[in-house]
Amino acid sequence: MLHDVAIVGAGLSGLVCARRLIDAGARAIVVEARPRVGGRLHTGRVGGAEVDLGGQWLSVDQPRLLALAGALGVASSPQPRAGRAALDDGRGLGLFGQLRAMIAQRRAMRRIDRLARAIPAGAPGEAADAAALDAIAVGPWLAGAVADPAARERIALHAELVFAVDLAGLSLLDYLARLGATGGFAPRGPDLPGGGRDHRFVGGAQRLALALADGLGAAVRLGEPVQAIETAGAGGALTVRGSAGSHAARRVVLALPPPLAIRIAPDLPAPLHRLAAAIQRGAVVKCFAAYDRAFWRDAGLSGEAYRPRGTVRAVVDASPPDGAAAVLLAFVLGAAAEAWQRRDPADRRGEVLAALGELFGDAALTPRDYLEADWAADPWSAGCVASTPPGALAAGAVWRGAHGRIHLAGTEAAVRWPGYMEGAIEAGERAAADALAALALGARCHVKPTS
Ligand code: FAD
Repeated sequence: MLHDVAIVGAGLSGLVCARRLIDAGARAIVVEARPRVGGRLHTGRVGGAEVDLGGQWLSVDQPRLLALAGALGVASSPQPRAGRAALDDGRGLGLFGQLRAMIAQRRAMRRIDRLARAIPAGAPGEAADAAALDAIAVGPWLAGAVADPAARERIALHAELVFAVDLAGLSLLDYLARLGATGGFAPRGPDLPGGGRDHRFVGGAQRLALALADGLGAAVRLGEPVQAIETAGAGGALTVRGSAGSHAARRVVLALPPPLAIRIAPDLPAPLHRLAAAIQRGAVVKCFAAYDRAFWRDAGLSGEAYRPRGTVRAVVDASPPDGAAAVLLAFVLGAAAEAWQRRDPADRRGEVLAALGELFGDAALTPRDYLEADWAADPWSAGCVASTPPGALAAGAVWRGAHGRIHLAGTEAAVRWPGYMEGAIEAGERAAADALAALALGARCHVKPTS
């Protein structure tokens, strides 16, 4: 059977793309390597509680994600935040030192926001000073730009939490472009219904993908890793060659991270190959500890904690709203995450629990269950988030658009919120609209082609 469009990847982006195409009357198929849908959205269980092993939060300024969740009937609930966050910077700053650091941090954030706003959305290589910004890494730049050491560490920690790489290897242009595309540090409008600017999905973010896939039925083929897109024959069909057979299609959408996409699409232009080869994966391990009760709240703590140094860099309360368990979620990032699988599992668990004990007291040392989700070790994800080292972006290649009969989707192809669920939806919608326009199905479709 000749499909109008074959989509590679049943993550949020590929599924949104398929939904749009099928609603518009196109014959579409989604080919997915894993035995499940959702990609970087995956719901797991710890101590009887459902938790997000991958993507988790939505925020008030993500209109596509809010609309999709509303349409699919997937509810969200506020991130638990009542109480004090623990900022353990190991500096023993007194009240005056804390105040000085806070003022310096705010000033630096305003300056970074200004620089970020000057980067053209979705086209960082077109910034006036692109070459200079892409020639330096964030780590050394922060060392010169933010004099107060505590303020510098906090800004660096924020960047590490977003990109999950060593800042000595992260392009300043990429950092500023991402901040610009996600609203920067600036405050982001009113609360979501129920309160708060950050919410989680009740039952886990993978429910979005499961609900989309439900409506797509047999169009979603699971457990079929695609090995190559063959483009031979100018006017003929493309062949999506997979381990479980081949699919013929008039157009193909690649809805997967660039380093994985480029492996199966050798005919993409050379600048895209160079860009994808430069992309570095953000390495994150999410470590969940489940308890009978949220004992940290007794001490007025929110369960949120930040540490500029050490293996565990941040902790949040990941207890689900149904109260099935009280859960602390610890983040291990960058080099520590890259080395995680080489360590003894008992040592890893011991180190994470010891850090939780230091932050929240001895009760944290004895969870009723413990679970790790290591995205650096996942062969179908290329880490959690993509970024580039100095020298890769100023050349001007952007991971977006149509190249011959191949369309690029996936969150990395987004103009707004690349790296997030919101970006995955935007890129999936754009690829669907562009494919429909190219197939001349536009008259039958409900989707307007995008620029
Ligand atoms: P993916 O979900 O990666 O989907 C790509 C699909 O392609 C996968 O299913 C993969 O199996 C498949 N695939 C790969 N290779 C092949 C092949 N050869 N053949 C067939 N199929 C293939 N976002 C937020 O908005 N908020 C958050 O709080 C947040 N936190 C995150 C925390 C972690 C730990 C992680 C990992 C991600 C987080 N994200 C967050 C990011 C968010 O999850 C992603 O941006 C989004 O899910 C990406 O969707 P996608 O469809 O573009 O890509």
